[in-house]
Amino acid sequence: MRIGVIDAGIFGLVSAIELSTRGHKVLVFDQGSVPYPDATSTDVSKSIRRTC
Ligand SMILES: Cc1cc2nc3c(=O)[nH]c(=O)nc-3n(C[C@H](O)[C@H](O)[C@H](O)COP(=O)(O)OP(=O)(O)OC[C@H]3O[C@@H](n4cnc5c(N)ncnc54)[C@H](O)[C@@H]3O)c2cc1C
Repeated sequence: MRIGVIDAGIFGLVSAIELSTRGHKVLVFDQGSVPYPDATSTDVSKSIRRTC
């Protein structure tokens, strides 16, 4: 099956890897570069976040 995953955060990527492992053709979409700077999976600090 061909599957599109919208979200290249940790949950989207793990889902894409698992689906791919199961033999599906997976395409991941994100709104920006990966890792996206404001993604909660990868932001520089989970205690201090930008307000804008
Ligand atoms: C302050 C803070 C502390 C945390 N501490 C912990 C902790 O100690 N332990 C723990 O287990 N968890 C913690 N979490 C939770 C954990 O970080 C999140 O549950 C997890 O990172 C969420 O991953 P995600 O893939 O769902 O979202 P994200 O990592 O935010 O990824 C979402 C992706 O979707 C993309 N996206 C969004 N909208 C669109 C769109 N319209 N089109 C295309 N792409 C889009 C974004 O660019 C981004 O790349 C914390 C979260 C926060 C905010």
